[in-house]
Amino acid sequence: MADKVPTLPYFYGNITREDAEDYLRQAGMSDGLYLLRQSRNYLGGFALSVAYNRQCYHYTIEREMNDTYAIAGGKSHRNPIDVIDYHAQESDGLICLLKKPCNRPRGVEPKVGAFEDLKEQLIRQYVKQTWNLQGAALEQAIISQRPQLEKLIATTAHEKMPWFHGSISREESELRLHNSARVNGKFLIRQRDTNGSFALGLLHNGQVMHYRIDKDKAGKLSIPDGKKFDTLWQLVEHYSYKPDGLLRVLTEACPHPDGRPAIPLNHPGRGPASGILSRLKSYSFPKPGQKKHRTSSSPPPYSCESNANPYEKPKAGTDMPMDTEVYESPYADPDELRTTTVDRKQLYLEDGELGSGNFGTVLRGIYKMRKKEKPVAVKILKNEENNEAIKQDMLREAEVMQQLDNPYIVRMIGICEAENLMLVMELAELGPLHKFLQRNKHVSMKNITELVHQVSMGMKYLEEHNFVHRDLAARNVLLVTQHYAKISDFGLSKALEDSDCYKSKGVGKWPVKWYAPECMNFFKFSCKSDVWSFGVLMWEAYSYGQKPYKGMKGNEVIQMIESGQRMAAPVNCPPEMYDLMKKCWTYKVDERPGFVVVEPRLRQYYYDISH
Ligand code: AMP
Repeated sequence: MADKVPTLPYFYGNITREDAEDYLRQAGMSDGLYLLRQSRNYLGGFALSVAYNRQCYHYTIEREMNDTYAIAGGKSHRNPIDVIDYHAQESDGLICLLKKPCNRPRGVEPKVGAFEDLKEQLIRQYVKQTWNLQGAALEQAIISQRPQLEKLIATTAHEKMPWFHGSISREESELRLHNSARVNGKFLIRQRDTNGSFALGLLHNGQVMHYRIDKDKAGKLSIPDGKKFDTLWQLVEHYSYKPDGLLRVLTEACPHPDGRPAIPLNHPGRGPASGILSRLKSYSFPKPGQKKHRTSSSPPPYSCESNANPYEKPKAGTDMPMDTEVYESPYADPDELRTTTVDRKQLYLEDGELGSGNFGTVLRGIYKMRKKEKPVAVKILKNEENNEAIKQDMLREAEVMQQLDNPYIVRMIGICEAENLMLVMELAELGPLHKFLQRNKHVSMKNITELVHQVSMGMKYLEEHNFVHRDLAARNVLLVTQHYAKISDFGLSKALEDSDCYKSKGVGKWPVKWYAPECMNFFKFSCKSDVWSFGVLMWEAYSYGQKPYKGMKGNEVIQMIESGQRMAAPVNCPPEMYDLMKKCWTYKVDERPGFVVVEPRLRQYYYDISH
């Protein structure tokens, strides 16, 4: 619904507050006349401008992290249109009821801000470059990580802009501003420290003025006592439009010594946003690990911009962490040597087990790479006599993992042969999905769908690369965060060589309740049998980690399946998702969908419930 906003006749896009007031005046300023515009300082937010008693009042509608919208301190709604509908019935803190939309005059289109225009391209470029994804995988990653990506882009995109000069001294900034054409309003921004404090240098009548830009506890940036912004971008856009306390408006970026082309600022009378877009072509994202990104923000302060605040209630924001390092291979940085063997001296094991499995225990550790340290999980082979077979199994698992590189699959970092044989992997701190859900019954269906969709993306990748997992179950999905799942445990996995199925020589210690009929009857494993297991995994997830076929023995489960029965839907399971589970439990392999079909179904459903 929020994406319907651009088509609303009373939505004006990225116009200023003054422009909004002009439009309201032109339309007669009747009490309750209103229009909607894009917020120029809160990411993803909107502003509502209302006429009352011949005056204009402006309210920010914030986008909250769980994708709801609210006038700060007010009631949350699913989308900005609902906020407006609500305030047409209840003033509830607003200066008056919203009575009449102030529609755009004929020929006026919603104004597109430079930043909004850039954002989509930057997000795509980031995912492509940093996670090395393309095509459908790229689209999927964007869908599932959009709020985090938007925030990341918005908070880092300034770094290659010509007006951003990095951490130079005050003196150096003055030199740079004086050493080029002395145009009033020429400016640059420099970084003052690593805590998010910046300074704006502005040329005014031959002198350089310095303004501090500080970050408050909520992560908002502002010049002391000035308007607060989510990003430096928005701050620059704002002050290039009006001085608002500065000695003058920002006019042009001080040339950067690395020769970055100057970008015309995007406001009336200056160059078009296309100048910025072409600049994008040479934008290169900072590699994760080089710097700290801002990862969280608390609720912004109340912002009825022209009146005293009628709302008081503070709001708790539920932010999602954005750690880009967890999405990419630790070796994505070309300065880090890709290796399959880890030197014991680089590995620090910590006390306390993450878990234990067939091979032995899994400990948390730190892997010291050349440029950075990375928390890792270390699977340690138990030192027993006659464990040659187990050792071979573990090496086989490592061999499979080494060939896989996907954000939704736990990556192997390397093997360490020391006091024990150790498999060093990416850490997924929150542990197995089923246990997490057993402990966290408050997790929403939407959140579960998000995680299940991520698993389907990882499985689609395996399918595309002809790997069968053979042990797909909620216990083998590990969580990095509540919103980020990775598939693990490749102990039984096989690369399919020439055929599309693997024939096991006999029955081992098999997870029968997760296995498709053809696995049990003919020992045949394929990506389609992983789809069957995925259906069981979905059932586990939507039932908050319950055991499938509870209380039944393996042979009873086989009989039940052969007789055409399937597990009932988990309590409160969305019917669309139960329907998909049943599709995964199609008896005949040829009629069962592949992940190439399952994944888009989940993607679509997740999209539908998110909008
Ligand atoms: P496994 O032997 O692969 O079944 O692992 C046994 C247990 O160790 C799992 O159930 C997890 O609790 C834990 N574990 C395994 N790998 C990881 C990892 N990469 N990150 C965090 N915990 C892990």
